[in-house]
Formats: sequence, structure tokens, C-alpha cells
Amino acid sequence: MTTTINPKPRRQAAARPKRQTASARKTLAGELARRLPAIYPDAHCELVSSNPLELLVATILSAQCTDKRVNLTTPALFARCPAARDYAEIPQEELEALVRSTGFYRNKAKNLRAMGQALLERHGGEVPSTLEALAALPGVGRKTANVVLGNAFSLNEGVVVDTHVGRLARRLGLTSHTDPVRVEHDLMALFPRSTWTDLSHWLIFHGRRRCAARKPDCASCELRDLCPSAPACEPH
Ligand code: SF4
Repeated sequence: MTTTINPKPRRQAAARPKRQTASARKTLAGELARRLPAIYPDAHCELVSSNPLELLVATILSAQCTDKRVNLTTPALFARCPAARDYAEIPQEELEALVRSTGFYRNKAKNLRAMGQALLERHGGEVPSTLEALAALPGVGRKTANVVLGNAFSLNEGVVVDTHVGRLARRLGLTSHTDPVRVEHDLMALFPRSTWTDLSHWLIFHGRRRCAARKPDCASCELRDLCPSAPACEPH
């Protein structure tokens, strides 16, 4: 007798999203802004910091590195360098040793020292709270500036577009772009300004917990009914 065993449901790759109309994208964004905070009420920046300088430094270190690794590295660094002047004055070799485990440590140490000097020369040792001034600091781009503005100053000046946010925005059909700045502008046009900082937290949490790059868990996804990339099969 042949016994038929139902195969274990396998995760399917996310399908390529169909192009959406502008009004469909707006409606989708409204539903996401309603649903995501309920799914991830505790979404937050996962870099540990207690002031704008610490968050700026942690974000610079997070390039090409996990937040977990950065959080293991920063306690000793923050104890050694509590102020901008400390970054300006610490020897390169000592700083390299402190940030080595985050990768690209020579460059990161060089940028942190130059950032400390720029904060002293241009801002009296304080972290500025405008996009222009932040993005003009060595080693700081628009993404890092948005992280600091949104999370240390509670200012919604833009949307942080990292690898998770870009992937989710494309899979959900909110943008067709791959360039982070163009993705950011598409998201800013679709979501209310008051949600911009939280939006990136919600999408990063969803990207880490449900919609991984290689194996999205579409079968269990809370956004499956909204998502144009969900495979056309019934949830198991
Ligand atoms: S958002 Fe959900 S349904 Fe869409 S691709 Fe990601 S895991 Fe699948």
C-alpha cells in the first residue's frame, strides 16, 4: 500500500511585484501605517546609546556591521570617549583597537577622529540637529544623519533607508527604485511625516523577523493580503 505523506510546506521566494498605480500605492501606504504599529508596537532603534554623540558614533560603526556587534563594541568605546574632544584627541591606533571588531576599523577610526575634530571646530563639541550640518561631518551620510535626527532629536526629516527598508519597499510595491535616496523620496511622498522615523523601524523589524532577503516567510506574513510579492498560493 502506498501512503501519501503531505510534504512539509516550503517557503516560497517572493514574487516580483506588479507595478501599482499611484492611488493604489497611497491606499496601501495608509493601510501599512495603520497595521505596522499594531504588529510592532515596540519597534525602535536597536543601537544602544544614551545621547546624540553615542548614537552618531554607533551609527557610523554600524556600516557593514550588525547592530548586535556594534552594541558589544560601544560600551568600552563610550567609556573611553565620553565627549567629542576625546574622539579628536585619541590616538589612531588606540581607536582602531577599540572599534576593530566592527570591521573596516581603520577607516571608521579615521572618520571618528575627523568627526570629533569637526564637532569641536564647527559646533562647540555638540552634535548638530540639522540634516545639512550632520551630513557635512566626516563619515556621515544622509542615512546616518536621519538615524540621529529621528532617534536622538525626535525630528522627522527623512526616512532611514537601509537594506531591509529598501527591500521591503520594493517587495511591497511602494517603490521601483534601488537607489536609497530615490526610495526615501518615494516613501516620504506616501507616508505622513509624523511616521517617517517609525516607518523605518517597522520595516526593519519586519525585514528581520518575517521578510528576510533570501527566505521571506510569506506563509505566516501579517502583510500577505496586502503584498503584491506574496506568492499566489493559500497560506499553509
Ligand atoms: S512582505 Fe510578507 S508577503 Fe510580502 S514578500 Fe515579504 S514576507 Fe512575503
